[in-house]
Amino acid sequence: MSPDVAPCEDCLAELFDPGDRRHRYPFINCTNCGPRFTIVRGVPYDRARTTMSAFEMCSACRAEYEDPANRRFHAQPNACPKCGPTMRLIVCGEHDSTTQGEGTPAGEDALAGAVAALIAGRIVAVKGLGGYHLACRADNERAVAELRARKRREEKPFALMAADLVAAGALVDLTPAERRLMGGPERPIVIARRHPGAHVAEAVAPGSPDLGVMLPSTPLHHLLLADAGATLVMTSGNASDEPIAYCDEEALARLGAIADAVLMHDRPIEVRVDDSIVRSRGACSERPMMLRRSRGYAPRSLALPLQAPPMLACGAELKSTFCVASGSRAWVSHHIGDLRNWETLRAFREGIDHFQALFAVAPEVVAHDLHPDYLSTGYALAREGVELVRVQHHHAHLAAVLAEHGERGRAIGAIYDGSGLGGDGTVWGGELLLGDLAHAERVGHLFPVRLPGGDAAVREPWRMACAWLVAAFDGEAPLPASMRGRVDRERWEQVAEMARRGTSSPSTSSVGRLFDAVAALCGIRTVVRDEGRAAIELEAVATCAPASERDAYPLPVIEEELLQLDTRETVRAVVDDLAAGVCPAVVSARFHNGLADATAHALSLLARREGVRTAVLSGGVFQNRLLLERCAAMLAETGLRVLIPCELPPNDGAISYGQAAVAAAQLRT
Ligand code: ZN
Ligand code: ZN
Ligand code: FE
Repeated sequence: MSPDVAPCEDCLAELFDPGDRRHRYPFINCTNCGPRFTIVRGVPYDRARTTMSAFEMCSACRAEYEDPANRRFHAQPNACPKCGPTMRLIVCGEHDSTTQGEGTPAGEDALAGAVAALIAGRIVAVKGLGGYHLACRADNERAVAELRARKRREEKPFALMAADLVAAGALVDLTPAERRLMGGPERPIVIARRHPGAHVAEAVAPGSPDLGVMLPSTPLHHLLLADAGATLVMTSGNASDEPIAYCDEEALARLGAIADAVLMHDRPIEVRVDDSIVRSRGACSERPMMLRRSRGYAPRSLALPLQAPPMLACGAELKSTFCVASGSRAWVSHHIGDLRNWETLRAFREGIDHFQALFAVAPEVVAHDLHPDYLSTGYALAREGVELVRVQHHHAHLAAVLAEHGERGRAIGAIYDGSGLGGDGTVWGGELLLGDLAHAERVGHLFPVRLPGGDAAVREPWRMACAWLVAAFDGEAPLPASMRGRVDRERWEQVAEMARRGTSSPSTSSVGRLFDAVAALCGIRTVVRDEGRAAIELEAVATCAPASERDAYPLPVIEEELLQLDTRETVRAVVDDLAAGVCPAVVSARFHNGLADATAHALSLLARREGVRTAVLSGGVFQNRLLLERCAAMLAETGLRVLIPCELPPNDGAISYGQAAVAAAQLRT
């Protein structure tokens, strides 16, 4: 079972050849390209078990399909304008959803209507491979701002779709490796440095030095981009917080209020699959960093460095994936998302059934997180007749990196993320672990502070600023000048009191929350919608600092029973600099540098003490390129072998695979 593949050169040539019988046919494909994972209903993979089953091949298509010498020999989704799927354009508000597009523009008329609407600055929902996108002209300020408003309080940058690498090159600066990646068959969104002359509306990616750009992933998108003659915003087809729409009726119902028109077709999508997102790693590595592994990559298998019994690993909760494994193979699911959304949880359950059938894995073992409240844990506990294996969150992060690099020995790792339940029952997120696939031991951590109000502190980074000031200044935490006017003084005082007393304020060693605190102190973000937003913006700000900014804030590494990264001193330095009028860009750079230096120092110290030669950097915080680059470079200088996540993201998308590796290793010993 293969991932979906972008149109090949041969199909593209036919698509734009007026003499070809599939000239401008948006569903052209062959054995080398086309939809796969998103249309498959069962195994073995043949047409009857795909969403193409309702379309009967015409004689010309049938002849190709049966000819071993033909490029379309046994191409299951083979189709042509005579026998295959067709497009429809629904103009929102003109038709109620029950008409299902009857009497509406079809085929070329549908495409022409969509293109005209886009050129005129309207918003069009477009059915892609794994779900609907929302599209509009990227250079139209009003259209992009309108899209942002209709998606409701959405603050994430919008992805762009460019016609080709030339057009992409006018938007972002691309290295040769990034060009190969962007043009590759997986067609991920590539996040790269915004070109100074990029002609895109302000609302595409406000305040971001980067843009996310992808090339067309289907023939339909190739036609759309060619005809529109402009770069398009191509963002997920959903309102904020919802999963992406992928069923047609649902798309009409949900996207009808956001889009002016819906360009749909009658080839159903079996599995909702989001766009994949990758980011260049700059000087650190030729290989990019995976931020979301989904369309184009899933369900390609990964190797496991040891034999696993038939197994399911349920992953984490927010950026969730699951993984089925057997023998030395593991199949990590596409990005599932936030399980606390009911629709997403359903996709998680159904996805597991689907994968078990596709890869013929009947799990005897089910691995899950320690956290009893994760919905993935709940799912695991409800499975009957299986052996359960509990895996600590940060150990799973560590094991995922070890396993993807085929490493079975011991390593020392810095695992920095937002949160995960620790072995001691507290919230971890800044952990130095020593261990291998089977076992890991906590040998160090970030100085723990209070999380005032629990989850509220995740949404309100100013609370973390308050908690860190309470910790850094022995309870004295007046509202700093840099945040005045952005936080209510009375609420600040209440939260400071919570932090001092520990009321409704669990203790956490989370590095993610430390980033939140510094971002809030710098006045960058006091409130966020998505966890990690403040940290992303803090990193972005640092890139505005002069490259020569090599200064680092002090961050003592205290050797006690466990090593402690005492960031209280770092926070005091941040406060001093801000009070002295140092700009946030420089403060952010010095903060990044200080944390990277201390992390590298602590890891090399531990490596020497424990006699290990391999270091691992992972956890969602290491999506931060600045931190990762400096940290990895310093570690490499000490002679350690540095392993970082490549195939899978540093974030919780890798947890399921890590759990599988841990469970497999534990069951062997
Ligand atoms: Zn092809
Ligand atoms: Zn045909
Ligand atoms: Fe995590």
